[in-house]
Amino acid sequence: MSRPFKLYRLQQIDTQLDWIHNRLIEIDTALQDDDTLKEVSEAALKKEQDLEAARKALHRIEAEVGQQRLKIEQNESSLYGGKIRNPKELKDLENEVTSLKRYLSTLEDRQLDAMLLEEDMAASRKTASGELEKTHLDFEMRCSELNREKEKILKDQQRLESERRAAIGSILPEDMVQYVQLRKTRRGVAVAMVVDRACSACGSTLNAALLNAVHSPNQITLCDSCGRVLYKG
Ligand SMILES: [Zn+2]
Repeated sequence: MSRPFKLYRLQQIDTQLDWIHNRLIEIDTALQDDDTLKEVSEAALKKEQDLEAARKALHRIEAEVGQQRLKIEQNESSLYGGKIRNPKELKDLENEVTSLKRYLSTLEDRQLDAMLLEEDMAASRKTASGELEKTHLDFEMRCSELNREKEKILKDQQRLESERRAAIGSILPEDMVQYVQLRKTRRGVAVAMVVDRACSACGSTLNAALLNAVHSPNQITLCDSCGRVLYKG
């Protein structure tokens, strides 16, 4: 195995490990991101409270209508019961019944409005709880998908770590120092393959001397443009 190839192999492992590292962060962030679920949950709770309020209002107006009807019934039975004979008193009672009936009609209108509102609120609540159920299912499904992926890439990570230990074992210490330094300063890519007489990392065409040098298995050749270790492939 040539010196550049050993570094190239290590680079391939490290590139995969870098990807895994970033992906694990993405997965953990996504697993914690339950903002949508919270929002939908809060919206559903609000609809529940709105419905509860509409029901209470409806019950109140129903009770009022009931009491008003009872009052009218009582007054009418006094009116037609025959016990009251005084015409003035009868006339007053009749007026009172008329006025009670007029107010009953107002109350009945309010009752109808309250019923319609309650129906509206019930429909909204139903939509919101359906939405919540769906969002919840989506979230659970997404989490289990992410957890499955996480499990898989953690295994890959373990395998790659042991491959990495084995790969490092055969690399010269000075090559390792150079590799680590280049990884730091070249956005993680220390080794570039030569493709069509050019450095695949920066794209610059290599001169004849460099092209010649990359064929030597016992020396490290750096791209004269980006400074990366060149591997002939
Ligand atoms: Zn280059």
